Amino acid sequence: MNKIEATLKMKCPRCHEGDLFTTKNHFSWQKLTKMHENCPKCNLRYERESGFFYGAMYISSIINMVFFVAATIAYYVYFDERVDWRIYIWSYVLFTVLITPFIYRLSRSIWLEIFNDYKPQIE
Ligand SMILES: [Zn+2]
Repeated sequence: MNKIEATLKMKCPRCHEGDLFTTKNHFSWQKLTKMHENCPKCNLRYERESGFFYGAMYISSIINMVFFVAATIAYYVYFDERVDWRIYIWSYVLFTVLITPFIYRLSRSIWLEIFNDYKPQIE
């Protein structure tokens, strides 16, 4: 598993085996934000200092901006005046709301990956 695959699968950045979150379901509202404190495989402490994950907000902002720019470009390229412009706006709002749980988790996974190197465990 490479770094990108481990990030997308939300695995521990050090061993690429342990899960970051207690459930794989991004849409389980009660457990959406529940993370393991330490990696279940290699025991890496995920929140290295209190407030560590505030930085992940920058990552999620960047991802959201990328989506917004892509949607704006797509709007100008594919705009069809037979379709009410509000349909485009509300589709985008709905899309953003639906992917928010995934983006929340992905940004934490990317943030952890930035600060930790891959060191496979030798057993
Ligand atoms: Zn690990």
